[in-house]
Amino acid sequence: MLFKDIKCPNCEAYHDPTLEKCPECNNSNELFKLNRVPKRVVFLHPICQVAMFIIGFAYAGMYLAELFFASFIRVMDADNIYKSTLLMTCTYLLMFVCLMAVPLFSRRKLFFGKFTNGIDYIYGLAYAITVLAAGALLNALISIAHTPADNVNQTNVELIATNYPLVGIFIMGIIGPICEELTYRVGLYSFLRRINKYLAFALTMFFFAMIHFTFDAANMVEELWSFPSYLLSGFLLTLAYEHRGPACSITAHVSYNLIALMMVMVQSNG
Ligand SMILES: [Zn+2]
Repeated sequence: MLFKDIKCPNCEAYHDPTLEKCPECNNSNELFKLNRVPKRVVFLHPICQVAMFIIGFAYAGMYLAELFFASFIRVMDADNIYKSTLLMTCTYLLMFVCLMAVPLFSRRKLFFGKFTNGIDYIYGLAYAITVLAAGALLNALISIAHTPADNVNQTNVELIATNYPLVGIFIMGIIGPICEELTYRVGLYSFLRRINKYLAFALTMFFFAMIHFTFDAANMVEELWSFPSYLLSGFLLTLAYEHRGPACSITAHVSYNLIALMMVMVQSNG
């Protein structure tokens, strides 16, 4: 458990047990020497961690942002793909601003300090390739038992990507995955990581798979078959975060989404 403030042996001030050094006197934290705190994970204040999860979680902040923008977009005279692209863009941009505000106004130096190591980005690319390869392998195994058709999530992605490719690349390729990493890794995982590593992995994977799952009775079978591949990519992205921090998991997620989007665009043009 990494919740209770610890007392600095040097200046006797209390501070968050996840801080590498005492903020009062710069005395190094014993828990770091004992390897009790994962070095690459971003530990904001527990309340900020929960706040980030609530802001970005699909059935909380994201849902409210969608409702808010939908009430304006509904009255517009435009086709449905245009409307859903606009709704997605507004929702993700608002979420991005709100999510970034939390570390910016709480532990800015600690947060941005995790983005200064170039090697993390290279590891991120390696993780993206691993997600692609592992996903292809899993799909090959699944296709022995089940002939795949696109699930609901994939079909929406395809419609937006082929009709508005630039918006698709910017929002679904870059802003969306950054929001998801801030919500599920920097928010949810880091909070649960204070309790237990394995619990944090299990719940983060579950929530990450769940938000990519569409509860649609007509397509439930397709959706259920795609659940394992979301669990797998959730596991690998969480591993990237625990191993090398947010720069790595964001690079992995952005690269993966960009490659997947390009494959969608090439297929629909061909
Ligand atoms: Zn101190």
